[in-house]
Amino acid sequence: MRRSRPNDDPEAIRESLVGILTDFAGELEGADLRAKVISLIPAFHKLRDLGCSLIPGGEASSARERIIAYLKRHPRIVVDGDELMVVSGIAEWARRVRELRVQFGWAIYSGVTFRDMAEDAGRAEDAQEIASLEIALGIPLARIKPDQYVLMRDDQDRGAAHRWNVLNEVRRKKVSVTDKIIEYFRLNVGEEITGEELKYLAKDKKEWARRVRELRTEQGWPIATKNSGRGDLAVGVYVLEEDRQSYEHDRRIPDAVRVAVLTRDGFKCVRCGWNRSMLSPADPRKMLELHHVRHHKDKGENTVENLVTLCNVDHDEEHRRPHAEQGDTTARPPHAPA
Ligand SMILES: [Zn+2]
Ligand SMILES: [Zn+2]
Repeated sequence: MRRSRPNDDPEAIRESLVGILTDFAGELEGADLRAKVISLIPAFHKLRDLGCSLIPGGEASSARERIIAYLKRHPRIVVDGDELMVVSGIAEWARRVRELRVQFGWAIYSGVTFRDMAEDAGRAEDAQEIASLEIALGIPLARIKPDQYVLMRDDQDRGAAHRWNVLNEVRRKKVSVTDKIIEYFRLNVGEEITGEELKYLAKDKKEWARRVRELRTEQGWPIATKNSGRGDLAVGVYVLEEDRQSYEHDRRIPDAVRVAVLTRDGFKCVRCGWNRSMLSPADPRKMLELHHVRHHKDKGENTVENLVTLCNVDHDEEHRRPHAEQGDTTARPPHAPA
């Protein structure tokens, strides 16, 4: 059936819709069911056109563009899927949302993703992240419905389109979710990866959030988040800072302790003064790590007093020193000025 162009004048569409519904009063009195159904079809199309027309054609010319235009006008606000149905004017709007998030790099989170994140927030380090997110959105994550959506950032991640092919390649592999996640991270070192990508990678299995945490805390992969000392990252964004696992004894440091140490040391290496703003492709210094002044095996603990901030280069250097020189018992940062 021929439909009018979606971006016509809303008032004209509304008037013609009212006309159709007014005429339908006569149809209702008839006995022919099929005639009633057929005469109602134009009303359905007009209603869709009316929804489409609410976002001007100059701003968006396709269903996908209308969806993102609508979300950009309502950033960090919980929006119902039904709203996106209205503005998109198509039945397959949910598929367009997925394309926008995974393929086009828009940080659109669904209630399902929030729930995965909330359910995994068993540990103090995650609880803090979840709490700040709930304050920002003004709603407990568990109360966000599966078919509700939030645009978390209003800028597009241009790298997402390039990652899309890699993402699908890894996703197809017959390996565990953990293996897929770490492989994808290692193919994108230093890139900002969203929870939505990891969820897609895990074929929507809820375990993705827990697996990421295990990779970070138990396997020692330097996967940074907003609350692990990378305040520049958005909530729900993950970065593998370097393609290597941290020293076994440096794992399992609680995020609260990590942040306290970084803050005390001014977010820079206590040996050379490197900080993240100095990041450059030619410089081997890529990240800040925490080092135990008194080593774990010598009963050194994960306390603020026993940890110092080092860049990855100085941290390697520290571990290359002969064992006798290590484990300064005075708990003084080993390379702090005397
Ligand atoms: Zn350094
Ligand atoms: Zn160390």
